[in-house]
Amino acid sequence: MGLMRSGMKTNWKKKVFFSLLIFTGAVLICYPILGFNWDRNNYNILLITIDTLRPDRLSCYSKKYINTLQIEGLANKGVVFTRAIAHNPTTLPSHTNILLGTTPLFHGVHSNSRFIVSDHFLTLAEYLKGKGYATGAFVGSYVLDSRIGLNQGFDIYDDHMPDRSSTAFDNAGYAERKAEGVIRMALAWLDKQSSKWFCWVHLWDPHVPYSSPEPFKSKFKDDPYSGEVAYVDTELGKLLDYLETYNLAENTYIVLTGDHGESLAEHGEMTHGHFAYNSTIWVPLVITGPRIDPQRIDEYVSHTDIFPTVCDLLDMEKPPFLQGISVLPLIQGKKAKKRLIYFESLGPYYDRGWAPLRGFVEENKKFIDSPIPELYDLRNDFNEKTNLSQKVNLNTYQKKLKDLEEQYTSSQKVERQKKIDPEAMEKLRSLGYVSSAAPRTKKSFGPGDDLKTLIRYEQKLYLAYELHNEGRMQESIESLKEIIREREDFDTAYISLANIYKSQRRIKEAVDIMEEGFSKNPKSYEIVSNYGSILVDAGLYNKAIEVLQKAIVLVDFDPTTWNKMGIAYMRIKKEATAQEYFQKALSLDNNNAEVLNNLGIIYLGILMRTKELTAYTKAVQYFQKAIFIDPNYHLAHNGLGAVYKIAGKIDEAIECWHRALEIKSDYPLSIVNLGIAYFQKGDKTKSLKYLNMYIKLKGDSISPNERKKIERLIERAHQLD
Ligand SMILES: [Zn+2]
Repeated sequence: MGLMRSGMKTNWKKKVFFSLLIFTGAVLICYPILGFNWDRNNYNILLITIDTLRPDRLSCYSKKYINTLQIEGLANKGVVFTRAIAHNPTTLPSHTNILLGTTPLFHGVHSNSRFIVSDHFLTLAEYLKGKGYATGAFVGSYVLDSRIGLNQGFDIYDDHMPDRSSTAFDNAGYAERKAEGVIRMALAWLDKQSSKWFCWVHLWDPHVPYSSPEPFKSKFKDDPYSGEVAYVDTELGKLLDYLETYNLAENTYIVLTGDHGESLAEHGEMTHGHFAYNSTIWVPLVITGPRIDPQRIDEYVSHTDIFPTVCDLLDMEKPPFLQGISVLPLIQGKKAKKRLIYFESLGPYYDRGWAPLRGFVEENKKFIDSPIPELYDLRNDFNEKTNLSQKVNLNTYQKKLKDLEEQYTSSQKVERQKKIDPEAMEKLRSLGYVSSAAPRTKKSFGPGDDLKTLIRYEQKLYLAYELHNEGRMQESIESLKEIIREREDFDTAYISLANIYKSQRRIKEAVDIMEEGFSKNPKSYEIVSNYGSILVDAGLYNKAIEVLQKAIVLVDFDPTTWNKMGIAYMRIKKEATAQEYFQKALSLDNNNAEVLNNLGIIYLGILMRTKELTAYTKAVQYFQKAIFIDPNYHLAHNGLGAVYKIAGKIDEAIECWHRALEIKSDYPLSIVNLGIAYFQKGDKTKSLKYLNMYIKLKGDSISPNERKKIERLIERAHQLD
């Protein structure tokens, strides 16, 4: 599962590297004079991370599935690491590992939700910026939103996402941007660079949902995941061609990797983020650039090796805190020292209270520590089919893991204390990353809590998600009900089910299922807050206030809940109280467009009653800021129009409403507002156009009273010249 901002509304709408250039004689001997300027301080670094990328889908790793000609072309020029390991099977922790050169034991980012990257850590971007590099990041997913903290050190961090998709399932609701859009922005930035640069390009496409554009969609109809990889490979060609065209290739180190793999039903897991088998933690790693000869290296390497390797490639001193090793000696033909590579999968632990999973790879042994432990011989069993844990004494492995954890954690313990500061906490709060913020994790875990035991509920949830996407709603509903019958603490099932009911306008059933979830899980913040939220949608405002109050007792720093409370009070006409709740929500997240819009509405109401200039100014400010944050927020455009209208600025008002309709062409309020405004301006044609459009759009849902009013206005409009 992923980043899930709390609250029903969000589930629905927004689901979401000191140093000198050392020209030593030794270096000169190692690297004889080549045909280009080899001022090592002038090499560019291009880091490409492709999300959810299984090595076997790249033809430089396996010829079984697809020809990825672009990446194969790159691989042919450089070094292909056949055994690269991600320390985590999820997006944010993996990218943090790459960009900080440390494991989660050090930086503390264990899952997509709940965590932000503390700004006290030195990132690769900060390090290179300190060396005079221009730094640019171009990311394709909301999971890597700049507010999460990986933007540190980047001159530009382009995380602009198009409109977020609406779905009942948060795992599919991430805002994403296609590879084409990300690469276009990266190329525009590269075009402006005149000196050395570090560029990170993140391509999200192979992540669910698998929906590549044509012709990939048709060509890979039966294997849509591969279709996404083929699409990304083709798009990547544009970036690689650019480097060739502008003679940058000979001057640029390219590091290409995936943040994690994808299970595709192996081990019973459909996607990633649950287990830590090689299906999801084995990743591609290709490095090309000056003086790197084509070769394949079978030593185990990891994501945290990238930062120290870049230091070595650029002949820069390595910061002392790095937890990986430079792979440059391997590239130069040396053997790696024996070491343990740490991995973990703690998303299910933090998000759901399931058993933690940690382990390590040492040469060809892989140990997975969980209530039901596992041990694999990767040399003969890379696909982890035969668990050897019964046949050996695991004490040595357990001790090694414990030592490893202590080593990676304790070396920086004092530092870490300082790093988790109140400001970072506040950021975390403002993002609303609060799933299971009120911990319900156990102290000890048995086989019943093991991820292998719980995977079947994940499978069912995924099935429900697929059925939902295929429009088979009733079957999706049945599947979710089945989960609830077997695991009454499975909060995602209640929430997804309520969301489906809501999408079908079965609001009573949505309320009922959340009430059932609430009665069985009164301490689950996700359940309580979503129950309160659905009560608001159902118009049961007093009950909603009672429930949302309970949610606020569990977690008092989620702006979504404070906002919902404000809406409930607004609807029962307690505007002063509503305003207090909206202000509280805004203090937790001052870039929340919905909250800003709601405050605009509050001041619009005051303006209507009092005609005071201060109310006008405030209303305009709130609506304008909401629009600044979300230019496609039609409600805010409509509200701003209303404010202008009251202030007698009818042309400005008309412009706002037209803008609202450009975004949402059937938004009734802006249509009727335009009809009335054009009537007042004496524009017969346009007035009639919008008034008639309104009547037609509303159909039978219009009240007799309103119909009479509009019809009278239409009559009068006909009399205009
Ligand atoms: Zn990812």
